[in-house]
Amino acid sequence: MTQILNDFPNIASLRSALDSRKISSVELTQTLLNEIAAQTKLNAFVDINTELSLAQAKSADEMIASGSATALTGIPIAHKDIFVTQGWHTTAGSNILKGYKSPFDAHVVEQLLQVGTVSLGKLNCDEFAMGSGNEHSAFGPAHNPWHPKVVPGGSSGGSAAAVAAGLVMAATGTDTGGSVRQPASLCGVSGIKPTYGTVSRFGMIAYASSLDQAGPIARSAHDLMLMLDSMSNFDSRDATSIQTCRGVANQHGRVKQDFTEHDQRFQNLGAKPFAGLRIGVPEEYFGPGLDNGVAKAVEAAIAQFEALGAQRVSISLPHTRLSIPAYYVIAPAEASSNLARYDAIRYGHRTEQYTDLTDMTARSRSEGFGAEVQRRIMVGTYVLSHGYYDAYYLQAQRIRRLIAEDYQAVLGPQCDVILGPVNPTVAPPMGKTDQSPTAEWLADIYTLSLNLAGLPGMSIPCGFAPGFDGSSLPVGLQLIGNYFEEGQLLALAHHFQNTTDWHAQRPKHSEKGAV
Ligand code: GLN
Repeated sequence: MTQILNDFPNIASLRSALDSRKISSVELTQTLLNEIAAQTKLNAFVDINTELSLAQAKSADEMIASGSATALTGIPIAHKDIFVTQGWHTTAGSNILKGYKSPFDAHVVEQLLQVGTVSLGKLNCDEFAMGSGNEHSAFGPAHNPWHPKVVPGGSSGGSAAAVAAGLVMAATGTDTGGSVRQPASLCGVSGIKPTYGTVSRFGMIAYASSLDQAGPIARSAHDLMLMLDSMSNFDSRDATSIQTCRGVANQHGRVKQDFTEHDQRFQNLGAKPFAGLRIGVPEEYFGPGLDNGVAKAVEAAIAQFEALGAQRVSISLPHTRLSIPAYYVIAPAEASSNLARYDAIRYGHRTEQYTDLTDMTARSRSEGFGAEVQRRIMVGTYVLSHGYYDAYYLQAQRIRRLIAEDYQAVLGPQCDVILGPVNPTVAPPMGKTDQSPTAEWLADIYTLSLNLAGLPGMSIPCGFAPGFDGSSLPVGLQLIGNYFEEGQLLALAHHFQNTTDWHAQRPKHSEKGAV
């Protein structure tokens, strides 16, 4: 089956086809829904609602006809199944929420609907966003369009797989410890996790609230700019949403970023547009554990930045190693508290036979939650319990501060942006996570510290390296900036993509419908 989105390299090109009526949003939506139905082996989508998608497409066509189209009107997207949606089921990839339909939309869903995007449904993810490979989903794993036997990355695996397979132009994801950047990297697409507070968490099913942040996954940095611009409006329903408005400084003197204004920033600066830019390369990110092929691709990308005029600076983030123990104390602690709401009383799965109230809750939770979620609830409850709180939780919070300080010691004084790998390896084969759950946790070494610090980071494709069977799999380059510098990251990534074509590569498997 030929894929319609292969004809459009980016959102802008699809925009002009829609505006010039070469294709209507309704036609496009129907075609894509057919393609999704033909690609069920990918297991990227977990809920579809044809009528609703077509109704959204019809409104998009009306917006276009009336001249009120925005950059995203009629653009096909889909949402990670962690955002609540009216009309589609919302399960967070868990049996405990099987069959649940939300009476309201998440802020992100609302915002994207307002600008006229068309949602094609809900995307597979690790249960409650806990995981790095999308193998902890009650719907079974999503597959990587580049290779039927490797993971797409997690937890937003369905989002990255759907974008990489050309089933949507962009998708929403969430990143608590790497879940936008990791799947983007392993599926050869682009993703950004903005500064904590940039995107409202209202209606985003909570995993670890002080770390959770939504971000888009798309084919290019430019497409990410368009998506983030629409997703990031202030929302009073999330107490950590950053209160700024377009063009008007708030009490801290900050103005809402216009992510699209960075589009042309490096355009007409000659052969060395990055002159004056200092790129920090953390020595801790290139140590043992980093796959050779991944290191080579990342090094080549850094060399490309240098060729564009940037200056490479060696930096140190000494507490990187501690991000894994600190995160895997703090995230489970918050999760154990957030997931206490699934008590089988108000909503969610309820066991059939029970003796009393306590028994009902215990049995329902044992049946409804998967193994990884139960593991985290146990760890989280333990580290918060009397006698262990000081030894684990408080200690982890202290380390969190040290990690944030590591970044402040270098971002500004020594460098303007940090570059490095996203994942230590290319996408690993499926079926390994159950053998050693903690081995999966170690793969988060380059992504967790950003969430602990609240900083923005992104992943863009930067090459290929051999996978477990020697086949070529995508490698991601991570860009890390200081707070509220996602505009700079997007501009750099956009220019990198103007001078390279890694982001334009498409998997062969999805074209053949092999997965
Ligand atoms: N892999 C990390 C975890 O399992 C991060 C997941 C995420 O960012 N949602 O918690």
